[in-house]
Amino acid sequence: MAQHKVRVRFAPSPTGELHVGGARTALFNWLFARKHQGVFVLRFEDTDVERNRPELVEPILESLKWLGLEWDEGPYFQSQRLPLYQEHARKLLEEGRAYPCYCTPEELEAKRKQALAEKRTPQYDGTCRHLTPQERERLEAEGRRPALRFVSPKEGTTVVEDVIRGPVEFRNEEIDDFIILRSDGRPTYNFAVVVDDLTMGITHVIRADEHLKNTPKQILIYRALGADLPVFAHVPMVLAKDRTKLSKRHGATAVFEYRERGILPEALVNYLARLGWSYGDQEIFSREELIEKFSLEGIHPSPAVFDEEKLLWLNHHYIKTGDPKRLGGLVKAFAVQRGFLGDEEAEKIAEARWARAVELFRERKRTLVELAEAAVPLLTERVEYDPEAVAKFLTPEKTALLQELGGHLEAVPDAEWTAERLEREIRGWLAQRGRELKEIAQPCRVALTGVTRGPGLFETLELVGKERALKRLREAARLAASPS
Ligand code: GLU
Repeated sequence: MAQHKVRVRFAPSPTGELHVGGARTALFNWLFARKHQGVFVLRFEDTDVERNRPELVEPILESLKWLGLEWDEGPYFQSQRLPLYQEHARKLLEEGRAYPCYCTPEELEAKRKQALAEKRTPQYDGTCRHLTPQERERLEAEGRRPALRFVSPKEGTTVVEDVIRGPVEFRNEEIDDFIILRSDGRPTYNFAVVVDDLTMGITHVIRADEHLKNTPKQILIYRALGADLPVFAHVPMVLAKDRTKLSKRHGATAVFEYRERGILPEALVNYLARLGWSYGDQEIFSREELIEKFSLEGIHPSPAVFDEEKLLWLNHHYIKTGDPKRLGGLVKAFAVQRGFLGDEEAEKIAEARWARAVELFRERKRTLVELAEAAVPLLTERVEYDPEAVAKFLTPEKTALLQELGGHLEAVPDAEWTAERLEREIRGWLAQRGRELKEIAQPCRVALTGVTRGPGLFETLELVGKERALKRLREAARLAASPS
């Protein structure tokens, strides 16, 4: 028999931004598809008119693209597929696997309250299950528009064979005759998902385990439609450090928030892949390696705990090993976005200087934002002098020394204006004078950048660039005389 091609889907509801938990589900689907040369389908589940926010579709697409999780088919929108659900519902109705229910929301609510008062689990009581054609006609004549309910078995069990959890058994008596089509013709979640997964030829349903409780209902629908089941894999939740479900109150949860904090997409992908999945104790995976090594069996059945420190550690790894040119471009974009410098000014700074800033700072900086903060004061033309620092460090004695140092460094050729060469030069110069680095480090830094905090002196000199650096060393004396 020909093997079915793997087809998986990611099915977000546009009710919130793409959360890291959702992104991980998307990633697992994407990895599984790529590993098996399958198809990754994107589908928006947007039939919940009350909670649906169409303006979130675009940001969700953007987040997926940023993570590099390109889909092969879609995006499909459930709201555009209503006739398909209605057609399948009609089929179930004709075969006696579904029936019209005329109960009004008020009647159902009253029954629900009564059940709760009597400490029973609220379930539909089957009022409309055995209506005669005459009774139905009468109710229709009253102007009632029916919903369609599924005829659920009252006995036995339904077993979800889950790849991650093993078999999970549900008692059918706990499943009531649930609604599949609302009276306005919109499908309910469980029904739409099955019709979609079926008609889209989905072979593996990989999704969050909050949906495990829905799966027996979906299995019953598959069977009623005479269809084969897909493979189910329910991925455990993502918890915060306090072991409650990761949510807004724990801080950043949306993929975009991590992007804004200067996390690289490859770091987040690597991090999310290892969140609940493992391959021995390997931590760092390239995308290709993830595709090669990923398996559903490698996903752990227990919840995973989100660890910001580990994400930062991975981000640092990718910052340390990434292409400086590419990272430099990203740092520049951040610097502008954060308003550290203007667009035009950023453009004037050569690409090579941005790249060099990355090389010089990446051992110590873990995010693109930290890199931008460190680099901008050294790359920009504008220096804002802190009057206190000027008063404290740019004394006449020190500025005379800086001037002398500037004169000495004049001899360093442009092409050799590097941190290493400058360190040699300056240490030699200090030794000749019997002075120590600490005597000039702070004055020099203030003259170059206006402030006392910052990276190493030699890196600072290199990045500021020869011409600018010498000018600032020369002008330090004048500055000290009129600090404003
Ligand atoms: N739309 C559902 C959600 O966003 C996913 C349903 C599914 O994957 O079956 O949670």
